[in-house]
Amino acid sequence: MVFDAIIAAGGSGSRAGGPKQWRLLGGKPVARWSAEALLEAGARRIVAVTPAGAEAEAREALAGLSQVSFAAGGATRADSVRAGLKALAEDAPEAVLVHDAARPFVTSAIVDALLSALGGADGAVPALPVADTLKRADGGRIESTVSREGLWRVQTPQAFRYRALVEAHAAWPAGEEMTDDAGAIERAGGKVALVPGDPRLMKLTYPEDFAMAEALAAQARVTRIGQGFDAHRWGPGESVWLCGVEIPHDQTLIGHSDADAGLHALTDALLGAIGAGDIGDHFPPTDPQWKGASSDRFLAHAAGMVRARGGRILNVDVTLICERPKVKPHREAMRARVAEILDLPLDAVSVKATTTEGMGFPGRGEGLAAQAVAGVELPA
Ligand code: MG
Repeated sequence: MVFDAIIAAGGSGSRAGGPKQWRLLGGKPVARWSAEALLEAGARRIVAVTPAGAEAEAREALAGLSQVSFAAGGATRADSVRAGLKALAEDAPEAVLVHDAARPFVTSAIVDALLSALGGADGAVPALPVADTLKRADGGRIESTVSREGLWRVQTPQAFRYRALVEAHAAWPAGEEMTDDAGAIERAGGKVALVPGDPRLMKLTYPEDFAMAEALAAQARVTRIGQGFDAHRWGPGESVWLCGVEIPHDQTLIGHSDADAGLHALTDALLGAIGAGDIGDHFPPTDPQWKGASSDRFLAHAAGMVRARGGRILNVDVTLICERPKVKPHREAMRARVAEILDLPLDAVSVKATTTEGMGFPGRGEGLAAQAVAGVELPA
């Protein structure tokens, strides 16, 4: 079933001490957790509906997610959801998920359960039974105990047949508060199914919720490290490619591609971090299409594999080992080029160089060696 998602990012966060959807959780904005999880669960497009004045924060929080677009929110949550529905009207999906930005831990299992429940309903919502005893009270004094029977705590994402939700919103009486989108379908006489919710879908409401969320965030991601090594032989030439930068030199490195040992070592480090073999597996030297190829393609491919697994590159560090050419004058250009290829901030990229004091093959000027490490964060 083709589905899109709307992330309602409109809360002012007065109870959490400021807007919580842009706060960092496990090093990543809260709203980004939701967006990445919904995309991983198969969402075709996401519209992030943001309140006036928060556009820049939203774009920064969701930068680089190509399937995400932005819409301006309205005065109420319902107005914001309507803006999101309108943004999806062209090439409308079969189903739409409406999600609160402040619930970062969406799982693919919940999304799958919601979509399959739509087979027999106009809407489906995740819900948990009420575990605590409920009291009705006035001014600190209990009036009565409320039966929990038949009561459910409803979460998001909520899933709907797109047409049904558009119509239910259109039919909603002006001026009346809509607490959730399922309510609109109920009012319109449609059927909303309950699927088992997940305690991890908790809404970050109070400042203390973040401590629990940080613990969950730490469980949700693992850090991996990969290392790579490469060496190429010197031969006749006029320039050499190192870490994506062409440096004038009285020799060149010999190889099937452009022989950029720095980028080759780095590509192997990224592949190593995700257990995806080595550069030769992905770009066999026997394949004529890689003859003379620019090695930035190899590195971009490895970075794409990390992203395809829902991962994120944390940092990379390359050491070039040679007596000549002098690397230092080109080091900043190399860092900038690697940062550009990997879409990383400059401070996450390190390029260093060393000699071997005349010892071994780099010392004798037979060849240049490079080694690299890469840190990668992956879904657990
Ligand atoms: Mg190589």
